[in-house]
Amino acid sequence: MDLTDLTIKEAHQGLVKKEFSALELTKAYLDKIEKENKEIFAFLTVNEDLALSQAKKIDDFIAEGKKISILAGIPCAIKDNILVKDIKCTAGSKILENYIAPYDATVIKKLKNQEAVILGKTNLDEFAMGSSTENSAFGPTRNPHDKSRVPGGSSGGSAAAVAGNLCCFALGSDTGGSIRQPASFCGVVGLKPTYGAVSRYGLVAFASSLDQIGPITKIVEDAKIVFDAIKGKDEMDSTSLNSKFKIQKSKLQIKIQNLRIGIPKEYFVKGIDPEVEKVIKGAIKKYTELGAKIEEVSLPHTEYALPAYYIISSSEASANLARYDGIKYGYSKFKIQYSKFKSLLDVYLKTRGNGFGDEVKRRIMLGAYALSAGYYEAYYLRAQRVRTLIKEDFKEAFQKVDFILTPVSPTPAFKLGEKITDPLTMYLSDIFTVSVNLAGLPAVSIPCGKVGNLPVGLQIIGRAFEEEKILKIGKLLEDYELR
Ligand code: GLN
Repeated sequence: MDLTDLTIKEAHQGLVKKEFSALELTKAYLDKIEKENKEIFAFLTVNEDLALSQAKKIDDFIAEGKKISILAGIPCAIKDNILVKDIKCTAGSKILENYIAPYDATVIKKLKNQEAVILGKTNLDEFAMGSSTENSAFGPTRNPHDKSRVPGGSSGGSAAAVAGNLCCFALGSDTGGSIRQPASFCGVVGLKPTYGAVSRYGLVAFASSLDQIGPITKIVEDAKIVFDAIKGKDEMDSTSLNSKFKIQKSKLQIKIQNLRIGIPKEYFVKGIDPEVEKVIKGAIKKYTELGAKIEEVSLPHTEYALPAYYIISSSEASANLARYDGIKYGYSKFKIQYSKFKSLLDVYLKTRGNGFGDEVKRRIMLGAYALSAGYYEAYYLRAQRVRTLIKEDFKEAFQKVDFILTPVSPTPAFKLGEKITDPLTMYLSDIFTVSVNLAGLPAVSIPCGKVGNLPVGLQIIGRAFEEEKILKIGKLLEDYELR
């Protein structure tokens, strides 16, 4: 038995039945990382000692006959923009190359309370800006399904780590698609929770009104386990909430015959790869075979979602990234040579000029421009109005249907280097994911087939705080594929 193949529940049962120890489980993953990370480059930092000591602790618990939680001893990977105390947190940027996190993010505190084993920190596009993980200052991650291709982004390291069995589950963050699109490219499950469902405390901020942390897992059931572990109101994040809906302790089962599924006509237009469209339509057909009623819905402002997203997210990023000034957060190569700076401005210019990569600079400039006097109304304010219209579109559609199905991405994983020199083409790969963030809704990417050997994900969008339901719908498709 290869221990790295196991799902969370299987690994948990193995630990409880003493078929293997937590130490053996963690070592199996560390060995795999040792062998394969050089090529895939999913991990930026591996915490071997810490992981082994955490695992040993679980073995002691088990030996003492203590009851362990479902995540106890389960090896996981954390996107490197989420703070884990005393471990480097780079956000994929040179500017934070030597930054050691002084505290745990709330999600990490929750995982540690459940005694999950943290194997290390995963690669990402710098400050989570990108769709391929090629914007990482430390080099790109490769897709385990085809190493000449990208894993998607920005949580590409987390998705590749799960797909390549370099961890049992991972956390990512999603501002405009960064959990769902890499999950789709890597053939794994990725859940973007409702805005506010999971605390953002300890997440390196990109666009605070859009950012959410969520799980990337091998199967749907695991996504539910991890989401249940990390969700909930946190007094350190005033935008976090407790779900209004009672989450029943139910199994992941649902009566499909009573459900109405919406297909937005604006999502099946020119620009989508015909092979991807075929796979997505095939998945939709499976739901009809299972008895769901399919209805066409309209989300009429979809075409404005991408420009609105790039204006709002870049505006917020330009404000959030102002803190990296070389003083509070160093680009320490310069910090230690203060005498060499001519003035305070020189500190800022050298730190930011050398510390940020091209894409981050592009977003800061775009955002600062959109927020500047004279342009604010024309860009930022207008984008906010579009955001309201997009929310209304979903509200209306959800009067008619219970769920919405769409592709996650217009193409399967593309080649490394294919889009990196053309930011607009890169932005287009977010066309099906950004609306969900603008509307604050939950959505999950479920593997639903392949184009050649490349996985394709189906996006299931639900009403706010209906994570449980969209996961149930996803499970139906997963079960269908297995039968
Ligand atoms: N690809 C999108 C961007 O570059 C989304 C990123 C994200 O969700 N973090 O903005």
